[in-house]
Amino acid sequence: MVAPTVKLSSGHQMSLVGFGLWKVTENTADTVYNAIKAGYRLFDGACGYGNEVECGKGVARAIKEGLVKREELFIVSKLWNSFHDEERVKPIAKKQLADWGLEYFDLYLIHFPIALEYVDPSVRYPPSWTNAQDKVSFAKAPLYTTWRAMESLVDEGLAKSIGVSNYSAPLMMDLERYARIMPSTLQIEHHPYLRQKLLTDWCQERNIQITAYSSFGPMSYREMNMAEHVPLLFENPTIVDIAKKYNKEPSQILLRWATQHNIAVIPKSNNPGRLAQNLDVCSFDLSKEDLEAIDGLDKHLRFNDPIAYGIPAPIFA
Ligand code: NAD
Repeated sequence: MVAPTVKLSSGHQMSLVGFGLWKVTENTADTVYNAIKAGYRLFDGACGYGNEVECGKGVARAIKEGLVKREELFIVSKLWNSFHDEERVKPIAKKQLADWGLEYFDLYLIHFPIALEYVDPSVRYPPSWTNAQDKVSFAKAPLYTTWRAMESLVDEGLAKSIGVSNYSAPLMMDLERYARIMPSTLQIEHHPYLRQKLLTDWCQERNIQITAYSSFGPMSYREMNMAEHVPLLFENPTIVDIAKKYNKEPSQILLRWATQHNIAVIPKSNNPGRLAQNLDVCSFDLSKEDLEAIDGLDKHLRFNDPIAYGIPAPIFA
């Protein structure tokens, strides 16, 4: 099974269902290879995930064995906060490409709208929220200059499409003012507890594709001993009832709810059974009433906030 695709404003096609690579730290190359075998074509990586070399090995093996061609894959990566200075963008993108063993990214995103002090990769890599002295230290790079460097990556063929992540509506509106190349996508935390409808509507009206991360809400954060008192979406009675009605897993209902709203999803799983289930989320349709029932679960509840990690950057305030 291969997921349906959507056409981005850049003109390129992107899978509506992909595979997230955050916290994929064990048997990473095999996980990527097996995901390709199962039908995944989009992989959502980042230098901050610390696994780009291993991910690239999985891709290389799949291509070598003839499972896919490079042009059938859609590889996403992200610019970390400490590389926002205009002159840092190309060198780090090239390093990330070399780590993956690729000549271009299909999509390259600004990971967070936060510029941090540059730390040379020879000093520390993968990068983190702190500088070489383990302190949070902000840099002065304004976002419009970082975006200008992102646009140059497209000009030079290093990225086919570019986009942003964790931007709020005012930042998107500002970006629209100065962009020579509009962002193809906005990647945000999105699940029934955090719908962000005004932001997603604004983007969809402009053909900026929304990609949801953490589609299962608290699940991903429980792994980090966070969100322990928030009920799991998998156990939410509305989701459980709808899952029974369609004879699907709660996870599939959550992913279908997003894709039916034309929002791309990038669930992460190391489990082969779940891997296949998570990809099979466009072969059935939820009724209007069921979509609305899930829409109604919104609590404006966000898990992936820098503040929650002790970083004094209230980007969602
Ligand atoms: P997710 O919502 O995909 O949840 C992952 C958790 O759900 C894991 O614990 C996994 O074992 C479990 N799971 C997966 N499939 C399941 C199933 N079918 N049934 C039951 N449990 C299942 O969370 P995520 O990893 O936070 O987000 C997905 C991807 O989004 C990441 O891997 C990453 O690529 C991206 N992401 C981006 C940002 C960003 O700042 N741009 C932030 C977070 C995540």
